[in-house]
Amino acid sequence: MDSVTDYLRQTVPKHKKWMAELESYAHEHQIPVMEPVSLHFLTQIVRMKKPKTILEIGTAIGYSALCMHNAYPTSKITTIEKNESMYQLALKNIKKQEKESKIDIIFGDALEEVNVLALNNIAFDIIFIDAAKGQYKRFFELVQPLLKKDGIIICDNILFRGYVVNDSTVNNKRLQNLAKKIRDFNEWLTRNEDYHTSIIPIGDGVSVSIKKNNI
Ligand code: SAM
Repeated sequence: MDSVTDYLRQTVPKHKKWMAELESYAHEHQIPVMEPVSLHFLTQIVRMKKPKTILEIGTAIGYSALCMHNAYPTSKITTIEKNESMYQLALKNIKKQEKESKIDIIFGDALEEVNVLALNNIAFDIIFIDAAKGQYKRFFELVQPLLKKDGIIICDNILFRGYVVNDSTVNNKRLQNLAKKIRDFNEWLTRNEDYHTSIIPIGDGVSVSIKKNNI
């Protein structure tokens, strides 16, 4: 599997300077951001879908939000981050790229902020979930009313370093519990009567879901 991953990484086009700088910053400071191959896949979906609106749960330093915007610059992105230092860094990075009018960062817990968006009748073409892995089912359930009829929900980290398949190598109860939560989420999601879902084994695992009644 590692050789396939290495191979796929080589197929990803060289990052622009600002992207490479943000990625290096994240790695240096151990901030988890999307892996290159899954990010490339996400941005490819953005190019295909041509979304007017994107909602992201989990901004971190603004890296994936900026990359999605770069993939389809007409899109308007709303992204939610609950950690204040991450929020401040994301604000700074988005300002540096002069994208303040295109990327709106909400500082707060997505479990609450999503309800505020719903009250304001805001709907999205793409919803990207990349936050606390143990909460994915709650995030997914909460964002559903915000999805446009033919919208797409994408989740990252749903294979969780392969632990969802085999957590016997993990000597850490917390990681084992997390792996179980994600495994349960994947089962719930792939059996969900309302969505067609595919799981793509790239990066840390990405799911793509569309509503069944979108015709
Ligand atoms: N999407 C980012 C990227 O690839 O550039 C990486 C996001 S990082 C994996 C996850 C982020 O989600 C963290 O910064 C964390 O603080 C944030 N987060 C976790 N739970 C959250 C919640 N309930 N509401 C908002 N943000 C949350």
